[in-house]
Amino acid sequence: MCRVCLRRPEIPDEPHGRCESCARAGRRVYQFRLRPTSTGFQISAGELSPRALREHAGAALQGFSGSPTSKPHLTSTTCELVMAGKRLESIRVSPGLASKTEAVVLALRQGAVRSEATW
Ligand SMILES: [Zn+2]
Repeated sequence: MCRVCLRRPEIPDEPHGRCESCARAGRRVYQFRLRPTSTGFQISAGELSPRALREHAGAALQGFSGSPTSKPHLTSTTCELVMAGKRLESIRVSPGLASKTEAVVLALRQGAVRSEATW
């Protein structure tokens, strides 16, 4: 199944696990794992480094005004950014984070202002 749209079958050996339509549209998914902190969450691992997150999605995250959606394929404390180029299409969270979406968006925004090479 395509990692981006979760609907169509992925192209065999496509490096990002996408269907033809998502690959053609340049859509990508980046997954992040969060760890709980005393005040909310912090990114603990991700498919983009802090620097790359800022570069690819920093502005889009600051301007994001939508609501993250809960998706059952995500488990534990994981979330995903769905990007089309530099446009942030959506944020998806695991069902366990569904009631904490504001804290998730905050953790992603805070991650995007860090400049370290690794989490
Ligand atoms: Zn797709």
